[in-house]
Amino acid sequence: RSKADGGGTYRFFELDMDARMQARRSLELDLRKAIVTNEFEVYYQPIIDVKTGAVTSCEALVRWRHPERGMISPMEFIPLAEETGLIVPLGEWILRQACTEAAKWPSHVTIAVNLSPAQFKSKNLVPAVTKALVSSGLPAKRLELEITELVLIQDNESAFAILHQLRDLGIRIAMDDFGTGYSSLGYLRSFPFDKIKIDQSFIQDLPHKEESLAIVRAVVGLSSSLGIVTTAEGVETDEQLSSVTSEGCTEFQGYLFSRPQSAGDIGRTLSEQATPTINTASESTETR
Ligand code: C2E
Ligand code: MG
Ligand code: MG
Ligand code: MG
Repeated sequence: RSKADGGGTYRFFELDMDARMQARRSLELDLRKAIVTNEFEVYYQPIIDVKTGAVTSCEALVRWRHPERGMISPMEFIPLAEETGLIVPLGEWILRQACTEAAKWPSHVTIAVNLSPAQFKSKNLVPAVTKALVSSGLPAKRLELEITELVLIQDNESAFAILHQLRDLGIRIAMDDFGTGYSSLGYLRSFPFDKIKIDQSFIQDLPHKEESLAIVRAVVGLSSSLGIVTTAEGVETDEQLSSVTSEGCTEFQGYLFSRPQSAGDIGRTLSEQATPTINTASESTETR
């Protein structure tokens, strides 16, 4: 192949790889620095009760304000943070931050924090979560932890043991991005999840794509018979909202109600909850 392609092409490919490696390495160095120089910020996206229209919870979503590159998406740096182990200190910081903010909110509003597989392997997860609760004064029942199937796939015995310890503390456990993995249904039998978040890829197809509608219907039916709350992720239109409403989802989350907001903005949103309005405030600092 290399002869037919010509040496030039091959060398060019190598250079390209090299450039990518270098970019990755420089991002990794920046990531290490970023924790120390306080470049991370936690945003909060409301989750709404379908029946009452009230905010029941907010999801903590980390943001990185890079001094030269501007906002970097978590889709870009979380995988790198996982590979390098930096997700462990970063994850602990996010937990502390999120619990501290949530402690200021009306007491019926819970906080949902995403956990990465690497945090489960660190051996320090339960103490770190406990510390975040104690130092913020947030009751365990107001904390919800979101995990994906990736947490359960490798070394699942110890992951399940940790999940049980967290649940015994009174923390709720949600299965995130449901439907995107391999054997989702089996996991529902092996751990008593409190909540299933139906991945936005299914919700965004509603109501016109029959397959997605059938899957949402099946997941809601199964969840409700198991006593599990369902959240529709990524609701962007009125049409999608009426679809998830008629399918019986418990909650929804998405740009239709609100984009993720800064800590200050979410605090104001929650204190204005007495007069519910559709809040379409945008993530003004975020480039999309
Ligand atoms: P996720 O946990 O499934 O979070 C939901 C993502 O969907 C967020 O993207 C949110 O901004 C986005 N979203 C919400 N509503 C809509 C909508 O109506 N339309 C569309 N198109 N998107 C919507 P974000 O903040 O970019 O985060 C992406 C992923 O990065 C998260 O997916 C999660 O897997 C990961 N992540 C974010 N923050 C953290 C964190 O603090 N820790 C860990 N371990 N992972 C995080
Ligand atoms: Mg999540
Ligand atoms: Mg999700
Ligand atoms: Mg997702």
